[in-house]
Formats: sequence, C-alpha cells, structure tokens
Amino acid sequence: MFTFKTLHEFNDYFKDEKTCYEFYEQQRWEGGVPVCPHCGTAKKAYKVKARGMFKDIPSYRCSESGCGLPFTVRTGSIYEGSKVELRKWFQAIYEITTSKKGISSVELATRLGVSQKTGWLMNHKIRTMLADTATELLGEDGKTVQADETYVGGKNKNRHKDKKIEGSQGRSAADKTPVVGLIEKGGRVMTFVTQDTSAETLTQIIDNNVVNGATIVTDAYKSYSTIGNAYNHITVKHQEGGYITERNGNKFHTQNIENFWSQLKRGYIGIYHYMSPQHLHRYCNEFATRYNMRDDGNIARFLHVVRNSDSPKITYRILTPNIPNPNHPRRKQKPTV
Ligand SMILES: [Zn+2]
Repeated sequence: MFTFKTLHEFNDYFKDEKTCYEFYEQQRWEGGVPVCPHCGTAKKAYKVKARGMFKDIPSYRCSESGCGLPFTVRTGSIYEGSKVELRKWFQAIYEITTSKKGISSVELATRLGVSQKTGWLMNHKIRTMLADTATELLGEDGKTVQADETYVGGKNKNRHKDKKIEGSQGRSAADKTPVVGLIEKGGRVMTFVTQDTSAETLTQIIDNNVVNGATIVTDAYKSYSTIGNAYNHITVKHQEGGYITERNGNKFHTQNIENFWSQLKRGYIGIYHYMSPQHLHRYCNEFATRYNMRDDGNIARFLHVVRNSDSPKITYRILTPNIPNPNHPRRKQKPTV
C-alpha cells in the first residue's frame, strides 16, 4: 500500500530508481501493461535488457510492424530527455504538492541537490502537470458561479499618475497581465490568462466554461454587462457600502474568487517575487489545482501530478498515429532514460 506522511517515509518507499520506474508504470499504463509511446500500441512490447548504468531500468521494445522502437515508461513523458533521476522528480513533486503556498525554484534546487537552472525547469514542468484535467462545466445543478478578473505583475511605484485610467476601479495597467477567474461556490476554480478584459473576451470565457442559464455573480465592471442574456447575471456593487447583493432573499457576493486572488498574490509576493507573463498561466494552474484539490490528501495530489505526465507532443502523436514524424529515428535508438 502506497502511503506516506513525511518526506522520510516518502523517500523510504521510493528507495531506488527501479522502484520509481515500476511505480510510474503502474500509474501511467493501465494495469502496468506497456503502451508503446511511439505508435500507441499496447500489449505488443517485450522486455529487453538495458546495459550499464541503466541495467536495472525496465526497458521495452515494440513489436508492432513498422515501429519496433525501444522505450521505457519515461519515453514520451514530461521526464523524457531529463538527466535527473525519476527519484528526484518524485521528490520534487512531493515538495511542490505538499507545500501550501508553493515553493521557489531556488529552494527546490537546494532541497533536491540540483543546479538552480534544473530546479527552475523542474518547477515549471511540474506546474504544467498540475494543470486541472477536469472538463465539466461550472454552474451545474443550480450552483452559483462568481466571475472576476485581477492583474498580476508590474510595480505600482513605477507607475506614473497619468497612466492610471479613471473609472477603471484599479483595472488597466500597462505592465500587468490580466487573469480572469471563474469559481463555483463550494466547487472548482478556473483561471485564464488573457490579453485584455474586453466584453468579448469575458463573454467568450464564460460561454465556454459555464452552463448556459446558470447564475453568475460579478462586480459592476462594464465588460460583464452583456452576459445577462444567456445567464442569470447578478451584479455586486462594491461602492455601495457592502459586498453583498440580496435577491429574492438570497445573498450573493464575489468573496470566494477574491479570496482566491489574494492567495495567488500572496504566493506571488512571498514565494516567487516575479511571475513573467509568459509563464503566468502555469502559476495560475498551480494555485487553481491546489485550491481544487484542497480537500484531497497529499497522496491524491501527488498521484494527480504523476499521472498527468504525458508530454504534449507525444499526446498529439498518439492521437494521430498515421502521421509519420519526419524527425523520428526509425531504429537503432537507445532507450531514453
Ligand atoms: Zn510502437
């Protein structure tokens, strides 16, 4: 039974590379039966003996005609091509998923004993794996959805008075990146890093992710004014001495999404100091998943990341097995470990 309460127990369980590979095989392949990452064929791989430093690593070769390529469970995963042992990857996932507020790359590198550059890369890759894989829409079964946007990045002290836009309620800042958030009361949060917060952008995000006809609570920002046709739109007016709007005896607010933004911003200030716009969606994913898995234990969070480890390019290749990859070596390839 896989269980751990402390890092010590965790490291005892994952005592060597072979254990980590076998564990990952069970998580990645159904019943631990190898699936060729090159052609997507299952049950047609046979075990081969790896040599040298890889001699304990379970290695396979595909026997599908026209394929015949070697692989390990790491091939086609986010760990492919990394020189870091799987054991350290697992420890990194442990560190990231058990910390409440996230962990900086420098701190991660120190704990793992890897270079700062490697620590940074691992932290970013694990953030990709933290992405929420749930696809259900928000607002099912009459659940209320709160929508809001925030701005991340930039430095206030650098901002000239003239740059502040009147009536924008703190919105619009040239050096900040907008993030749109949807949160279901008592449920999941979804985040979207966007170019702008125009009515078009906000309407599209809501339309794609919230069940038509659901109740949506927002503040009085004008870009939300057009969603009323397809949704039961309730506006909370912050300037009216309160944050709660009553409608038919029910109280509505945007407190949940605002709490989420303050968590994200505390992480930003306290741990990361700076999030570049191009990586912002990964940080948002990390915080969203941490929020969405708040009632799950450390083990569930760890497994979620370990299982969510297909490399995007490989997923594409498996989905379209008939399109040959022109850069792909057909044979004589050493197992990638
Ligand atoms: Zn194959």
